[in-house]
Amino acid sequence: MSKLLTDLIEALRCLPGVGGKSAQRMAFHLLERDRERGQRLAQVLEQAMREIGNCSRCRNFSETPVCNLCSSSSRDRQVLCVVESPTELAAIEQATGYRGQYFVLLGRLSPLDGLGPEELGLDRLAERLGEGEIEEMIIATNPTVEGEATAHYLAQLARAANVRPTRLAHGVPLGGELEYVDRGTLAHAFGSRQSLD
Ligand SMILES: [Zn+2]
Repeated sequence: MSKLLTDLIEALRCLPGVGGKSAQRMAFHLLERDRERGQRLAQVLEQAMREIGNCSRCRNFSETPVCNLCSSSSRDRQVLCVVESPTELAAIEQATGYRGQYFVLLGRLSPLDGLGPEELGLDRLAERLGEGEIEEMIIATNPTVEGEATAHYLAQLARAANVRPTRLAHGVPLGGELEYVDRGTLAHAFGSRQSLD
């Protein structure tokens, strides 16, 4: 097999769930039948990797310094929902009628992996809480051990800023990742969230 073809197959394996066989099938498919869209894929991929950064306010993916959600005038500025990742933000947007703001941790507290308050941008979060607009902080970290520890830390941060912390209600299975919970369950857990104080 040519060097370039081997490189292509190896590169495709970076995608989640794609092993050697699937990567080879993808590479052959593009070369045999779909070169035009393969070119398009390469262009968009290159541009997206270069231009998509993180919003300076909520840390969600954004190609502008402040994302659409943060700059929208139709979003409620009194409620802030904290999630671990952009995937969970998307799940909440799709499953619930939530119209407030977000903050994305891009991880969860995990000292063993070197993830502390600084890496999760909690200084920036504290700043936002300190602006005085936010009244409720919905803590939507995953119900895993690390997610719960993070939730505990976040609740303290909220209380220190006189913001009411709430947590998603039961219905999200213990150890379950929000991303994999069905829409109805997530919408229910979101709607019947409970105060943490
Ligand atoms: Zn934003």
